[in-house]
Amino acid sequence: MAYHADASMNKPSGIPPVMEEPLRQGCVNRALRTLSEVNRSLLRATSETELLKEMCRVIVEHGGYRQACVGYAQHDENKSVQWMECVGIDKDLLNTLHSTWADTELGRTGIGTAIRTGKASIGRNILTDPAYAGPNFAPLRGEAVKKGFASISAFPLSIDGEVFGALGLGAAEPDAFHQDEVSLLNQLAADLGYGIANLRVRNRHRESEAIIARLAYYDTLTGLPNRTFLLELLDAAIQVARQLRQPLALLHLEVGRFDEINKVLGYKSGDELLSELGRRLTETVKENETLTRVGEAEFALLLPTGGADYALQTAQRLSALLHHPVEVSGLSVDASVTIGIALFPDHATTPDTLLRRANAAMRNAKPIWGGYAMYTGGQEERNTRQLSLMGDLRRAIAQNELMLYCQPKLVISSRKVCGAEALVRWKHPVYGMISTSEFIKLAEHAGLISPLTNWVLEASFRQSHDWHRMGLDRELSVNLSAHDLRDPELINRIRGLFSTYPIPAETIQFELTESALMEDPASALETLTQLKSLGSKLFIDDFGTGYSSLSYLQKLPVDAIKIDQSFVIPMTESHDSAVIVHSTIELGHNLGLEVVAEGVESRASWDLLASLGCDIAQGYLISAPIPAEQFKTWDASWSTSLAKMNST
Ligand code: C2E
Ligand code: CA
Ligand code: CA
Repeated sequence: MAYHADASMNKPSGIPPVMEEPLRQGCVNRALRTLSEVNRSLLRATSETELLKEMCRVIVEHGGYRQACVGYAQHDENKSVQWMECVGIDKDLLNTLHSTWADTELGRTGIGTAIRTGKASIGRNILTDPAYAGPNFAPLRGEAVKKGFASISAFPLSIDGEVFGALGLGAAEPDAFHQDEVSLLNQLAADLGYGIANLRVRNRHRESEAIIARLAYYDTLTGLPNRTFLLELLDAAIQVARQLRQPLALLHLEVGRFDEINKVLGYKSGDELLSELGRRLTETVKENETLTRVGEAEFALLLPTGGADYALQTAQRLSALLHHPVEVSGLSVDASVTIGIALFPDHATTPDTLLRRANAAMRNAKPIWGGYAMYTGGQEERNTRQLSLMGDLRRAIAQNELMLYCQPKLVISSRKVCGAEALVRWKHPVYGMISTSEFIKLAEHAGLISPLTNWVLEASFRQSHDWHRMGLDRELSVNLSAHDLRDPELINRIRGLFSTYPIPAETIQFELTESALMEDPASALETLTQLKSLGSKLFIDDFGTGYSSLSYLQKLPVDAIKIDQSFVIPMTESHDSAVIVHSTIELGHNLGLEVVAEGVESRASWDLLASLGCDIAQGYLISAPIPAEQFKTWDASWSTSLAKMNST
């Protein structure tokens, strides 16, 4: 233990009494014993109150003093002394003394003097000292007689030279406290001050560590524990569940359309929405259940007990609760929340996989089924495959791994080839041919549509140009996605391609799905008008599957509609489909549009379409999509057979 306080500062204010040698030695021994015990306590103590209590106990039990007490200086109006700890004397009694360290009549006691002067006040005889003569001190004098402590000494306690209190000791002998003993006790008080300072520093450290830990484990926006916290908690909860052989459930909640809300209403509103949802959820969860925020707009709820049924009931309850609109920036916002559920031990046995699987289940939750879903296995593998595919697709586009296929189109009345639809293909080095619909959807999610469209456009223009040079002018239609319609660069790029590959403007056509047009009708109209101005024919793809209104359609500068294959394929068996196909052809013609049927798989369909006056057909009956470079050969052989047929 290092001695900090300057012992000279604590010089006794009274003159040490003269003492017989054996008695003096006894007192010194007593002080030494106390000092060494006190130092041991200093090392062990973990809190200030504990240290003070232990200190007073040691002083009385080991040091043989009759009483020990510690008072702290208050910086209030009365400069009062707050009694922190005492042994050998009743604290209630001390409290009746109205102790003070002010330079007043009541403040001239040992403790008061030590605090005020910063020097030890030695050998104060309670029974004869005038400072203790007043009526206020009568109970103390009575106690001194009863408990046998006539002499009191007080030692200031300080930190960095600043006095914050005093240690008082009471001894039986009226003339106790010899000089050697006093200097040992001065050391003791200095050590005590040092110990207290140390504990306070340690405490402050602990507090700031707790704040840091809180920051690491809690989300500042909602005040909820975060993902790190959840994973640690899950670890513990899984161990308990395993021991008790009971299941536990994890619910993963995601706020839908959160990006949109942020974009439209601003980030502050997004934050408000999350805080409000967090509050609502917190109010409803049970005491043993833990709600955490695990992602930007994602929460997770741990149900430490209860199996599948309970988890489903909870999901249903939360779903209903979150269904009510939330007031955000004065607006009523409908936050759709989807919930995925995964169970220990059925679906996963580690925190990480449990969270991942609840997340995978969430992706399967559909609003019409209540907005929640239980993990069913395989979802995560599918998601993992999708994720890795996204990365691969990026590379495939960049490294030219895509292929251009063409599917021929025939004029129904003449059976002549009029052109083809450009369809992209991707052969993955590991998974082989990937379904086009799958990777187009992936590209849409991964923000890869523009590079993909650019690739297809480039390949289609090049192909068209090759045919043109070989004397074959065939229409080639390129599919555009909703995202392309919002791409301000699209038109310029196409213009650039027309100048790189000089071909007749009408040989390149564009197909746009009804739903893509409806996503943002205003910008769709603008893009369509610009495309049209380049001289290209425009098709509305998948017609009949969206909800475009007739009046809207009339405004669009389109040339043709493609009846969706979902109506064409079953039309020979389903009366309803036949009626839809029939009325679509009529509608199209009434609007002055050409009508194309896709998905023509049978001769019966062909004949029916012909009788209904449909203009163009495309489908497996004629040809499946074929590699673009084979198209010219296919076209030639078709034309030869047709000529032969017509001549017979
Ligand atoms: P879509 O534009 O409706 O293309 C027609 C789809 O029907 C093609 O599927 C084609 O292979 C298929 N099909 C053709 N004839 C028949 C038939 O007789 N019966 C049946 N059951 N199916 C037939 P594919 O090539 O898998 O393309 C799927 C979708 O992917 C396309 O639907 C289109 O929306 C999109 N897509 C394809 N290529 C591109 C592209 O280059 N860019 C964009 N943005 N989308 C593309
Ligand atoms: Ca198409
Ligand atoms: Ca289609």
